[in-house]
Amino acid sequence: MKAWFAIPLWQRVIGALILGILTGWFWGPGAESIKIIGDIFIAFIKMLVVPLIFFSLVAGVASIGDLRKLGSVGWRALLLFVVTGQMAVWLGLGLGTFMQPGAGVDTSSIDMGAVPPPNDTSWREMLLGIVPQSPVQTMADVNVLPLIVFSLLLGIGILMAKEEGEPVQRIFDSGAVIMQKVTMIVMELTPFGVFALMAWVAGTLGLDALGALGKLVFLNYLGCLLIIGLIYSSMIKFIAKLPVIDFFRGIVDAIAVSYSTASSNATLPVTLRCAERNLGISNSVASFVISLGATINMNGTAMYLGLATLFGAQIFGVDLSWGDYFLISILATLGAIGAAGIPGAGLIMMALVFGAVGVPLETIAFVAGVDRIMDMMRTTTNVSGDAAVATTVASLTNEIDRAEMISADDV
Ligand code: ASP
Repeated sequence: MKAWFAIPLWQRVIGALILGILTGWFWGPGAESIKIIGDIFIAFIKMLVVPLIFFSLVAGVASIGDLRKLGSVGWRALLLFVVTGQMAVWLGLGLGTFMQPGAGVDTSSIDMGAVPPPNDTSWREMLLGIVPQSPVQTMADVNVLPLIVFSLLLGIGILMAKEEGEPVQRIFDSGAVIMQKVTMIVMELTPFGVFALMAWVAGTLGLDALGALGKLVFLNYLGCLLIIGLIYSSMIKFIAKLPVIDFFRGIVDAIAVSYSTASSNATLPVTLRCAERNLGISNSVASFVISLGATINMNGTAMYLGLATLFGAQIFGVDLSWGDYFLISILATLGAIGAAGIPGAGLIMMALVFGAVGVPLETIAFVAGVDRIMDMMRTTTNVSGDAAVATTVASLTNEIDRAEMISADDV
Protein backbone atom coordinates (compact mmCIF):
# COMPACT_ATOMS: atom_id res chain seq x y z
CA MET A 1 0.00 0.00 0.00
CA LYS A 2 2.76 2.43 1.00
CA ALA A 3 4.78 1.48 -2.06
CA TRP A 4 1.70 2.14 -4.23
CA PHE A 5 1.20 5.67 -2.90
CA ALA A 6 4.94 6.36 -3.07
CA ILE A 7 4.67 6.31 -6.87
CA PRO A 8 3.37 9.67 -8.17
CA LEU A 9 -0.23 9.41 -9.43
CA TRP A 10 0.63 10.33 -13.02
CA GLN A 11 3.18 7.52 -13.21
CA ARG A 12 0.59 5.06 -11.91
CA VAL A 13 -1.82 6.33 -14.55
CA ILE A 14 0.69 5.92 -17.38
CA GLY A 15 1.53 2.42 -16.09
CA ALA A 16 -2.17 1.53 -16.03
CA LEU A 17 -2.54 2.92 -19.55
CA ILE A 18 0.18 0.66 -20.95
CA LEU A 19 -1.00 -2.36 -19.00
CA GLY A 20 -4.60 -1.73 -20.08
CA ILE A 21 -3.67 -1.56 -23.77
CA LEU A 22 -1.68 -4.81 -23.52
CA THR A 23 -4.51 -6.53 -21.66
CA GLY A 24 -7.06 -5.44 -24.27
CA TRP A 25 -4.78 -6.53 -27.08
CA PHE A 26 -4.44 -10.08 -25.74
CA TRP A 27 -7.95 -10.42 -24.39
CA GLY A 28 -9.83 -8.98 -27.36
CA PRO A 29 -13.57 -8.17 -27.13
CA GLY A 30 -13.82 -10.14 -23.87
CA ALA A 31 -12.15 -7.16 -22.14
CA GLU A 32 -15.60 -5.55 -22.18
CA SER A 33 -16.31 -7.54 -19.01
CA ILE A 34 -14.01 -5.33 -16.91
CA LYS A 35 -15.39 -2.09 -18.35
CA ILE A 36 -17.64 -1.83 -15.28
CA ILE A 37 -14.57 -0.67 -13.29
CA GLY A 38 -14.17 2.18 -15.75
CA ASP A 39 -17.90 2.93 -15.60
CA ILE A 40 -17.69 3.25 -11.83
CA PHE A 41 -14.81 5.69 -12.22
CA ILE A 42 -16.79 7.79 -14.71
CA ALA A 43 -19.82 7.70 -12.39
CA PHE A 44 -17.66 9.14 -9.60
CA ILE A 45 -16.45 11.85 -11.95
CA LYS A 46 -20.06 12.73 -12.78
CA MET A 47 -20.79 12.90 -9.06
CA LEU A 48 -18.29 15.76 -8.78
CA VAL A 49 -19.70 17.96 -11.54
CA VAL A 50 -22.48 19.77 -9.67
CA PRO A 51 -20.82 20.42 -6.28
CA LEU A 52 -17.49 21.31 -7.85
CA ILE A 53 -18.95 23.88 -10.24
CA PHE A 54 -21.28 25.26 -7.58
CA PHE A 55 -18.68 25.83 -4.87
CA SER A 56 -15.78 26.82 -7.07
CA LEU A 57 -17.78 29.30 -9.17
CA VAL A 58 -19.54 31.00 -6.26
CA ALA A 59 -16.25 31.22 -4.30
CA GLY A 60 -14.45 32.50 -7.43
CA VAL A 61 -16.95 35.30 -8.09
CA ALA A 62 -17.17 36.25 -4.40
CA SER A 63 -13.36 36.47 -4.21
CA ILE A 64 -13.38 39.41 -6.63
CA GLY A 65 -14.01 41.55 -3.53
CA ASP A 66 -15.54 44.97 -3.76
CA LEU A 67 -17.09 45.26 -7.21
CA ARG A 68 -16.30 48.99 -7.39
CA LYS A 69 -12.69 48.39 -6.46
CA LEU A 70 -12.40 46.22 -9.54
CA GLY A 71 -11.55 49.44 -11.35
CA SER A 72 -9.09 49.73 -14.18
CA VAL A 73 -7.14 46.59 -13.34
CA GLY A 74 -10.19 44.39 -12.84
CA TRP A 75 -12.11 45.12 -15.99
CA ARG A 76 -9.03 44.91 -18.16
CA ALA A 77 -8.10 41.56 -16.65
CA LEU A 78 -11.64 40.18 -17.02
CA LEU A 79 -11.84 41.41 -20.61
CA LEU A 80 -8.53 39.74 -21.49
CA PHE A 81 -9.61 36.54 -19.73
CA VAL A 82 -12.80 36.39 -21.78
CA VAL A 83 -11.26 37.38 -25.13
CA THR A 84 -8.32 34.94 -24.87
CA GLY A 85 -10.69 32.22 -23.61
CA GLN A 86 -12.94 32.60 -26.65
CA MET A 87 -9.95 32.60 -29.02
CA ALA A 88 -8.72 29.41 -27.36
CA VAL A 89 -12.06 27.58 -27.68
CA TRP A 90 -12.42 28.50 -31.33
CA LEU A 91 -8.87 27.35 -31.94
CA GLY A 92 -9.79 23.99 -30.41
CA LEU A 93 -12.95 23.83 -32.52
CA GLY A 94 -10.95 24.75 -35.65
CA LEU A 95 -8.32 22.07 -35.01
CA GLY A 96 -11.03 19.50 -34.30
CA THR A 97 -12.97 20.38 -37.46
CA PHE A 98 -10.06 20.45 -39.88
CA MET A 99 -7.87 17.69 -38.46
CA GLN A 100 -10.75 15.28 -37.62
CA PRO A 101 -8.98 13.42 -34.78
CA GLY A 102 -11.96 11.14 -34.12
CA ALA A 103 -12.72 10.16 -37.73
CA GLY A 104 -12.34 6.58 -38.91
CA VAL A 105 -12.98 4.79 -35.63
CA ASP A 106 -15.57 2.05 -35.95
CA THR A 107 -17.72 2.24 -32.85
CA SER A 108 -20.49 -0.04 -34.08
CA SER A 109 -19.45 -2.69 -31.54
CA ILE A 110 -20.19 -0.35 -28.65
CA ASP A 111 -23.45 -0.61 -26.81
CA MET A 112 -24.92 2.84 -27.37
CA GLY A 113 -27.49 2.50 -24.62
CA ALA A 114 -26.15 5.49 -22.70
CA VAL A 115 -26.25 7.94 -25.60
CA PRO A 116 -28.37 10.99 -24.82
CA PRO A 117 -31.10 11.87 -27.32
CA PRO A 118 -30.07 14.26 -30.11
CA ASN A 119 -30.35 17.88 -29.27
CA ASP A 120 -33.29 19.26 -31.21
CA THR A 121 -34.55 21.93 -28.85
CA SER A 122 -35.45 25.29 -30.35
CA TRP A 123 -33.65 28.52 -29.55
CA ARG A 124 -36.59 29.67 -27.44
CA GLU A 125 -36.51 26.53 -25.34
CA MET A 126 -32.75 26.78 -25.02
CA LEU A 127 -32.92 30.39 -23.81
CA LEU A 128 -35.60 29.51 -21.30
CA GLY A 129 -33.58 26.49 -20.25
CA ILE A 130 -30.73 28.75 -19.13
CA VAL A 131 -32.92 30.27 -16.42
CA PRO A 132 -32.56 28.30 -13.19
CA GLN A 133 -36.30 28.22 -12.42
CA SER A 134 -35.70 25.83 -9.57
CA PRO A 135 -32.04 25.79 -8.47
CA VAL A 136 -32.48 22.54 -6.57
CA GLN A 137 -34.11 20.82 -9.54
CA THR A 138 -31.31 22.15 -11.72
CA MET A 139 -28.77 20.45 -9.48
CA ALA A 140 -30.74 17.23 -9.24
CA ASP A 141 -30.98 17.04 -13.03
CA VAL A 142 -27.26 17.92 -13.44
CA ASN A 143 -28.38 20.71 -15.70
CA VAL A 144 -25.19 22.65 -15.79
CA LEU A 145 -26.01 25.79 -17.75
CA PRO A 146 -28.72 27.09 -15.38
CA LEU A 147 -26.53 25.95 -12.48
CA ILE A 148 -23.75 28.21 -13.74
CA VAL A 149 -26.19 31.13 -14.03
CA PHE A 150 -27.41 30.53 -10.49
CA SER A 151 -23.84 30.27 -9.15
CA LEU A 152 -22.79 33.51 -10.84
CA LEU A 153 -25.83 35.33 -9.44
CA LEU A 154 -25.23 33.93 -5.97
CA GLY A 155 -21.58 35.05 -6.11
CA ILE A 156 -22.64 38.57 -7.15
CA GLY A 157 -25.28 38.58 -4.38
CA ILE A 158 -22.60 37.74 -1.82
CA LEU A 159 -20.45 40.59 -3.14
CA MET A 160 -23.34 43.03 -2.92
CA ALA A 161 -24.19 41.98 0.64
CA LYS A 162 -20.70 43.12 1.73
CA GLU A 163 -20.00 42.35 5.44
CA GLU A 164 -23.27 40.49 5.81
CA GLY A 165 -22.27 38.19 2.95
CA GLU A 166 -18.95 37.27 4.53
CA PRO A 167 -20.11 34.24 6.57
CA VAL A 168 -21.66 32.68 3.47
CA GLN A 169 -18.57 33.54 1.44
CA ARG A 170 -16.44 31.67 3.98
CA ILE A 171 -18.72 28.64 3.65
CA PHE A 172 -18.24 28.64 -0.10
CA ASP A 173 -14.48 29.17 0.20
CA SER A 174 -14.24 26.21 2.50
CA GLY A 175 -16.68 24.19 0.36
CA ALA A 176 -14.46 24.82 -2.68
CA VAL A 177 -11.39 23.57 -0.83
CA ILE A 178 -13.27 20.52 0.46
CA MET A 179 -14.52 19.66 -3.04
CA GLN A 180 -10.96 19.85 -4.32
CA LYS A 181 -9.97 17.31 -1.69
CA VAL A 182 -12.90 15.07 -2.66
CA THR A 183 -11.77 15.35 -6.27
CA MET A 184 -8.30 14.24 -5.26
CA ILE A 185 -9.78 11.15 -3.60
CA VAL A 186 -11.70 10.33 -6.78
CA MET A 187 -8.57 10.89 -8.84
CA GLU A 188 -6.91 8.10 -6.88
CA LEU A 189 -9.28 5.78 -8.74
CA THR A 190 -7.84 6.93 -12.06
CA PRO A 191 -5.27 4.12 -12.49
CA PHE A 192 -8.00 1.46 -12.06
CA GLY A 193 -10.47 3.28 -14.29
CA VAL A 194 -7.83 3.90 -16.93
CA PHE A 195 -6.68 0.27 -16.91
CA ALA A 196 -10.20 -1.03 -17.44
CA LEU A 197 -11.14 1.59 -20.02
CA MET A 198 -7.99 1.18 -22.09
CA ALA A 199 -8.38 -2.61 -22.04
CA TRP A 200 -11.94 -2.11 -23.28
CA VAL A 201 -10.92 0.40 -25.98
CA ALA A 202 -8.00 -1.71 -27.21
CA GLY A 203 -9.96 -4.98 -26.95
CA THR A 204 -13.16 -3.93 -28.70
CA LEU A 205 -12.04 -1.17 -31.05
CA GLY A 206 -8.43 -2.09 -31.69
CA LEU A 207 -5.64 0.02 -33.07
CA ASP A 208 -7.81 2.54 -34.91
CA ALA A 209 -9.01 3.88 -31.60
CA LEU A 210 -5.48 4.13 -30.23
CA GLY A 211 -4.38 6.01 -33.34
CA ALA A 212 -7.28 8.45 -32.83
CA LEU A 213 -6.21 9.00 -29.22
CA GLY A 214 -2.65 9.70 -30.39
CA LYS A 215 -4.01 12.33 -32.79
CA LEU A 216 -6.02 13.92 -29.96
CA VAL A 217 -2.93 14.16 -27.75
CA PHE A 218 -0.95 15.67 -30.62
CA LEU A 219 -3.64 18.27 -31.35
CA ASN A 220 -3.92 19.11 -27.65
CA TYR A 221 -0.20 19.95 -27.62
CA LEU A 222 -0.39 21.79 -30.93
CA GLY A 223 -3.34 23.88 -29.73
CA CYS A 224 -1.63 24.78 -26.46
CA LEU A 225 1.59 25.73 -28.22
CA LEU A 226 -0.35 27.92 -30.65
CA ILE A 227 -2.10 29.67 -27.75
CA ILE A 228 1.24 30.36 -26.07
CA GLY A 229 3.18 31.14 -29.24
CA LEU A 230 0.56 33.24 -31.02
CA ILE A 231 -2.02 34.63 -28.59
CA TYR A 232 0.17 35.25 -25.51
CA SER A 233 3.23 36.36 -27.48
CA SER A 234 1.17 38.85 -29.50
CA MET A 235 -0.44 40.18 -26.33
CA ILE A 236 2.98 40.78 -24.73
CA LYS A 237 4.50 42.25 -27.89
CA PHE A 238 1.67 44.40 -29.22
CA ILE A 239 -0.47 45.32 -26.21
CA ALA A 240 2.01 45.27 -23.34
CA LYS A 241 4.81 46.33 -25.70
CA LEU A 242 7.41 44.27 -23.89
CA PRO A 243 10.05 41.82 -25.13
CA VAL A 244 8.47 38.38 -25.56
CA ILE A 245 11.68 36.46 -24.82
CA ASP A 246 12.12 38.25 -21.49
CA PHE A 247 8.55 37.44 -20.55
CA PHE A 248 9.05 33.72 -21.11
CA ARG A 249 12.46 33.76 -19.40
CA GLY A 250 10.77 35.35 -16.42
CA ILE A 251 8.18 32.58 -16.05
CA VAL A 252 10.40 29.56 -16.69
CA ASP A 253 9.96 28.33 -13.10
CA ALA A 254 6.17 28.54 -13.32
CA ILE A 255 6.23 26.67 -16.64
CA ALA A 256 8.30 23.85 -15.12
CA VAL A 257 6.17 23.54 -11.98
CA SER A 258 2.84 23.69 -13.85
CA TYR A 259 3.92 21.05 -16.35
CA SER A 260 5.04 18.64 -13.68
CA THR A 261 2.16 19.17 -11.20
CA ALA A 262 -0.74 19.64 -13.69
CA SER A 263 -2.25 22.02 -11.14
CA SER A 264 -2.67 25.79 -11.53
CA ASN A 265 -3.41 26.05 -7.80
CA ALA A 266 -0.24 24.25 -6.77
CA THR A 267 1.76 26.49 -9.10
CA LEU A 268 0.17 29.71 -7.81
CA PRO A 269 2.93 30.70 -5.35
CA VAL A 270 5.59 30.16 -8.03
CA THR A 271 3.63 32.14 -10.63
CA LEU A 272 3.25 35.01 -8.16
CA ARG A 273 6.93 35.00 -7.35
CA CYS A 274 7.89 34.98 -11.04
CA ALA A 275 5.46 37.85 -11.74
CA GLU A 276 6.75 40.08 -8.98
CA ARG A 277 10.40 39.18 -8.89
CA ASN A 278 11.25 38.46 -12.51
CA LEU A 279 8.66 40.47 -14.41
CA GLY A 280 8.57 43.47 -12.07
CA ILE A 281 4.76 43.49 -11.71
CA SER A 282 3.44 45.34 -8.66
CA ASN A 283 2.19 43.19 -5.81
CA SER A 284 -1.40 44.46 -6.01
CA VAL A 285 -1.82 43.67 -9.72
CA ALA A 286 0.05 40.36 -9.53
CA SER A 287 -1.87 39.03 -6.56
CA PHE A 288 -5.28 40.08 -7.90
CA VAL A 289 -4.89 39.00 -11.52
CA ILE A 290 -2.90 35.82 -10.95
CA SER A 291 -4.94 34.47 -8.04
CA LEU A 292 -8.19 35.14 -9.87
CA GLY A 293 -6.70 33.76 -13.09
CA ALA A 294 -5.66 30.51 -11.41
CA THR A 295 -9.35 29.75 -10.82
CA ILE A 296 -11.13 31.30 -13.78
CA ASN A 297 -8.61 31.84 -16.60
CA MET A 298 -7.92 28.47 -18.21
CA ASN A 299 -7.32 28.83 -21.91
CA GLY A 300 -5.64 25.44 -22.32
CA THR A 301 -8.67 23.82 -20.72
CA ALA A 302 -11.09 25.86 -22.85
CA MET A 303 -9.29 24.90 -26.06
CA TYR A 304 -9.25 21.25 -25.02
CA LEU A 305 -12.95 21.16 -24.15
CA GLY A 306 -13.77 22.41 -27.67
CA LEU A 307 -11.40 19.92 -29.29
CA ALA A 308 -12.52 16.96 -27.17
CA THR A 309 -16.21 17.62 -27.87
CA LEU A 310 -15.56 17.41 -31.62
CA PHE A 311 -13.47 14.30 -31.04
CA GLY A 312 -16.38 12.64 -29.27
CA ALA A 313 -18.85 13.78 -31.93
CA GLN A 314 -16.65 12.34 -34.69
CA ILE A 315 -16.11 9.04 -32.91
CA PHE A 316 -19.80 8.48 -32.33
CA GLY A 317 -21.03 10.10 -35.54
CA VAL A 318 -22.96 12.95 -33.88
CA ASP A 319 -23.77 15.76 -36.33
CA LEU A 320 -23.18 19.21 -34.90
CA SER A 321 -24.84 22.35 -36.25
CA TRP A 322 -23.45 25.89 -36.11
CA GLY A 323 -25.77 26.44 -33.17
CA ASP A 324 -24.04 23.54 -31.41
CA TYR A 325 -20.62 25.08 -32.14
CA PHE A 326 -21.81 28.30 -30.59
CA LEU A 327 -23.17 26.47 -27.56
CA ILE A 328 -19.89 24.54 -27.19
CA SER A 329 -17.92 27.81 -27.30
CA ILE A 330 -19.99 29.23 -24.45
CA LEU A 331 -20.03 26.05 -22.39
CA ALA A 332 -16.32 25.38 -22.87
CA THR A 333 -15.55 28.91 -21.66
CA LEU A 334 -17.83 28.48 -18.67
CA GLY A 335 -16.43 25.01 -18.05
CA ALA A 336 -12.91 26.44 -18.01
CA ILE A 337 -14.07 29.11 -15.55
CA GLY A 338 -15.79 26.53 -13.37
CA ALA A 339 -12.89 24.04 -13.48
CA ALA A 340 -10.78 24.01 -10.35
CA GLY A 341 -7.02 24.43 -10.79
CA ILE A 342 -6.28 20.81 -9.95
CA PRO A 343 -5.23 17.76 -11.98
CA GLY A 344 -8.05 16.22 -14.00
CA ALA A 345 -10.47 19.14 -13.61
CA GLY A 346 -10.80 19.47 -17.39
CA LEU A 347 -11.87 15.83 -17.63
CA ILE A 348 -14.70 16.46 -15.19
CA MET A 349 -15.91 19.49 -17.14
CA MET A 350 -16.29 17.39 -20.27
CA ALA A 351 -19.52 16.00 -18.86
CA LEU A 352 -20.89 19.55 -18.91
CA VAL A 353 -20.22 20.24 -22.59
CA PHE A 354 -20.92 16.75 -23.94
CA GLY A 355 -24.32 16.47 -22.32
CA ALA A 356 -25.53 19.75 -23.83
CA VAL A 357 -24.76 18.85 -27.48
CA GLY A 358 -25.60 15.16 -27.38
CA VAL A 359 -22.06 13.75 -27.45
CA PRO A 360 -22.03 10.39 -25.60
CA LEU A 361 -20.39 10.47 -22.19
CA GLU A 362 -18.61 7.27 -23.25
CA THR A 363 -16.10 9.66 -24.83
CA ILE A 364 -14.85 10.51 -21.35
CA ALA A 365 -14.04 6.84 -20.92
CA PHE A 366 -12.06 6.95 -24.17
CA VAL A 367 -9.90 9.91 -23.34
CA ALA A 368 -9.48 9.40 -19.59
CA GLY A 369 -6.51 7.12 -20.18
CA VAL A 370 -4.44 9.80 -21.87
CA ASP A 371 -5.80 12.79 -19.97
CA ARG A 372 -2.86 13.28 -17.64
CA ILE A 373 -0.37 13.73 -20.50
CA MET A 374 -2.66 16.37 -22.00
CA ASP A 375 -3.46 17.94 -18.65
CA MET A 376 0.21 18.80 -18.06
CA MET A 377 0.34 20.91 -21.22
CA ARG A 378 -3.08 22.47 -20.57
CA THR A 379 -1.96 23.57 -17.14
CA THR A 380 1.23 25.15 -18.49
CA THR A 381 -0.93 27.05 -20.97
CA ASN A 382 -3.33 28.12 -18.22
CA VAL A 383 -0.56 29.36 -15.94
CA SER A 384 1.33 31.17 -18.72
CA GLY A 385 -1.97 32.86 -19.60
CA ASP A 386 -2.38 34.19 -16.06
CA ALA A 387 1.12 35.64 -16.20
CA ALA A 388 0.57 37.08 -19.69
CA VAL A 389 -2.66 38.83 -18.66
CA ALA A 390 -1.06 40.13 -15.45
CA THR A 391 1.89 41.49 -17.43
CA THR A 392 -0.35 43.15 -20.01
CA VAL A 393 -2.66 44.71 -17.44
CA ALA A 394 0.30 45.89 -15.36
CA SER A 395 1.86 47.46 -18.43
CA LEU A 396 -1.38 49.24 -19.41
CA THR A 397 -1.85 50.61 -15.90
CA ASN A 398 1.82 51.46 -15.30
CA GLU A 399 2.15 48.89 -12.55
CA ILE A 400 5.25 47.25 -13.97
CA ASP A 401 8.88 48.03 -13.40
CA ARG A 402 10.21 47.59 -16.94
CA ALA A 403 13.84 47.93 -15.89
CA GLU A 404 13.39 45.04 -13.48
CA MET A 405 11.78 42.85 -16.12
CA ILE A 406 14.46 43.48 -18.67
CA SER A 407 17.31 43.04 -16.19
CA ALA A 408 15.90 39.78 -14.84
CA ASP A 409 19.12 37.89 -15.45
CA ASP A 410 18.89 35.82 -12.32
CA VAL A 411 15.88 33.73 -13.34
N1 ASP B 1 -5.25 20.80 -14.43
C1 ASP B 1 -5.65 22.04 -15.03
C2 ASP B 1 -5.20 23.20 -14.17
O1 ASP B 1 -4.95 23.04 -13.00
C3 ASP B 1 -7.12 22.10 -15.28
C4 ASP B 1 -7.49 21.04 -16.29
O2 ASP B 1 -7.64 19.87 -15.94
O3 ASP B 1 -7.63 21.39 -17.49
O4 ASP B 1 -5.07 24.30 -14.65
